[in-house]
Amino acid sequence: MLEGKASLGERVAVIGGGMIGCETANHLAHHGRKPTIIEMLCELAGQEPIAIKRILFQSLKENEVPIYCNSTVAEIKEDGSIEIVQDGEKKTLGRFDSVVLAGGMRPLNSLEAELGGIVDNVLSVGDAIEVRTVLEALEEGYEAGLKV
Ligand SMILES: Cc1cc2nc3c(=O)[nH]c(=O)nc-3n(C[C@H](O)[C@H](O)[C@H](O)COP(=O)(O)OP(=O)(O)OC[C@H]3O[C@@H](n4cnc5c(N)ncnc54)[C@H](O)[C@@H]3O)c2cc1C
Repeated sequence: MLEGKASLGERVAVIGGGMIGCETANHLAHHGRKPTIIEMLCELAGQEPIAIKRILFQSLKENEVPIYCNSTVAEIKEDGSIEIVQDGEKKTLGRFDSVVLAGGMRPLNSLEAELGGIVDNVLSVGDAIEVRTVLEALEEGYEAGLKV
């Protein structure tokens, strides 16, 4: 979606209200869509730096983005409506045209093992070790560069 490869309808359910889900919903709101954020925790954008969080939340508020915290998706129905369980209670959020999944990432690093027997020095850095931020990726890349 962020690469512009997916075409989305007007009402978009963003499942996952971490840093990436919230920023994605904000992006959608600024590009003529009507996003709704569904987050299972009680807090949104937990990993977002506080200074950015303030601006982000202000923007979500100004764009009237509906936010459902403490909510897990129970069912996405054939007609596009989504049923959630919020604080133990079932709710139907109505029909959505598209769903964006932002429920987290995990490293994909099978290449390290594949190259292990072929190349002498294989070093993994950044999200290939553990999904984090640009800072860690830069630092580890720099350190790796010093080793080779
Ligand atoms: C939507 C979004 C918003 C983010 N916002 C922030 C932010 O505001 N601040 C921040 O610090 N971090 C942010 N992050 C996290 C940050 O992007 C990553 O932590 C960082 O890019 C990790 O760098 P990397 O080089 O390890 O991996 P990547 O940037 O993912 O680069 C890996 C590259 O390897 C390529 N690749 C994979 N497999 C192969 C292969 N077999 N052969 C050749 N190439 C391959 C991939 O195509 C990719 O280009 C965000 C992440 C996302 C998804």
